[in-house]
Amino acid sequence: MTDPKPLQDALRQLPSVNDVLADAALQASAEGLDYNAVVHSIRATLDGVRGSIRRGVNGAAASAGNPPAQGGVSREAVIESCRENLAQLRRSALRSAINATGILIHTGMGRAPLASGAIEAIRNIAAGYCDVAVSREDGGRRKRSTIVEGLLQTLTGCEAALVVNNNAAAVMLALAAHARDDEVIVSRGQLVEIGGSFRLPEVMESAGARLREVGTTNRTRIADYENAIGESTAALMRIHPSNFDIVGFTESASIQEIADLAHSRDLIAIDDIGSGALIDFSAWRLEGESLASESVAAGADLVLFSGDKLLGGPQAGVIIGRADAVGACARHPMMRALRVDKLSLAALEATLRLYLEPAKLAAELPLLRMIAEPSEAVRRRANRLRTRVKKLAPGISIEIEKDIAHAGGGSTPSQSLASWVVAIADAKSPAEDVRRRLRLGEPAVFARVRRDRIELDIRTVADSEIEALASALAAALASAITSTPGDPKS
Ligand SMILES: *Cc1c(COP(=O)(O)O)cnc(C)c1O
Repeated sequence: MTDPKPLQDALRQLPSVNDVLADAALQASAEGLDYNAVVHSIRATLDGVRGSIRRGVNGAAASAGNPPAQGGVSREAVIESCRENLAQLRRSALRSAINATGILIHTGMGRAPLASGAIEAIRNIAAGYCDVAVSREDGGRRKRSTIVEGLLQTLTGCEAALVVNNNAAAVMLALAAHARDDEVIVSRGQLVEIGGSFRLPEVMESAGARLREVGTTNRTRIADYENAIGESTAALMRIHPSNFDIVGFTESASIQEIADLAHSRDLIAIDDIGSGALIDFSAWRLEGESLASESVAAGADLVLFSGDKLLGGPQAGVIIGRADAVGACARHPMMRALRVDKLSLAALEATLRLYLEPAKLAAELPLLRMIAEPSEAVRRRANRLRTRVKKLAPGISIEIEKDIAHAGGGSTPSQSLASWVVAIADAKSPAEDVRRRLRLGEPAVFARVRRDRIELDIRTVADSEIEALASALAAALASAITSTPGDPKS
């Protein structure tokens, strides 16, 4: 397709890469940057401008026959865009953000915030060398998982432990090591998909195991497992149905029953408990989480869980259980590709160590602090935010209201935590626009919109973030008021 004449003119008027490179202001922005990176960035910017002219974003007037300098994109505007994109090169694409969604274990936002002890451990290890896989005793090799094995034995009663990159990797490794080309029996009610990318049936298939579904979605009895055991059965597996609840007329086999049956038939029992609860969360009215220690005690050969869900640590997959079953995972060739790095291991060790002092846990572990905080304290913090925003953005309608926060991360789906939201209505532009500005602001803020109001759940917002959140809100609301429809920046 050939472009109509005004469009061609608008495109032809654009400066070339060399023109842009010759500009003094641009050179100042490019100072110190790699030449190829600068050229690449300018080329990408010019491509973007060309694209928007073709789509008529800036070139609407150009196609109406106006001179491109007015209707197209001026040279100054092009240089400005190039400079902005060069500045972007120096900025981190991974930013810290304020989580006002009320979802505590938010996978999109990095799940569990780390305890200061875990951050300290990362700092200590990151800058230099360490003994991650060498023995100080004899200078020979050591398995990196031994760093946390002792702690996990103490905390869960397991014989052995292994740490991999995440729980999906733990599931894959357990199946590859124990059920390759064999059958694994799983209840139909537990075939979960988590976060859109972890589909148990697909993970099993990629590990080379064959899935044998038994029972019905709402009821599976131990006899269903028993009847399905055949020549090629290698394992019975239970999976915590993390992000959904089957309510009403339900029945499922306990891990004790599953383990007993497995052992009576010379099979292994694998328990994917998902969240990695090391303590009983029912004290905070989060019911239905299987304790790692209970699965071990019930006789599961392998118990699998994430490091960054309820456990409150770094991304990791933990495999605990019987020594021979864990050992087979450790010896599998895939282990090399799934192993955890020293920084995660440092953070995991420091996080697990906190569990040795249960009385301090709620104060030290941010995730538990968020779960355990009394609703009244959340309300006070919400009030503090409202007062600050009222001061910074007078005339805004801002309320605090009772609401519900969620553990998230595939844990205890139907369980909720009483919370308080700060709700902002009557913004001069749609709430969705304000929400977008909040995401793009500094610091980035993630909130939700309901009934055309911005709602910020304060259970997931730390005391230390209130001031920055108030400023971010004031800025987003101010630009909502000043911007007009059709403003290219909106
Ligand atoms: C979250 C979850 C996984 C996946 O764990 P990642 O650490 O995200 O890889 C696997 N199984 C269950 C039951 C889960 O809840």
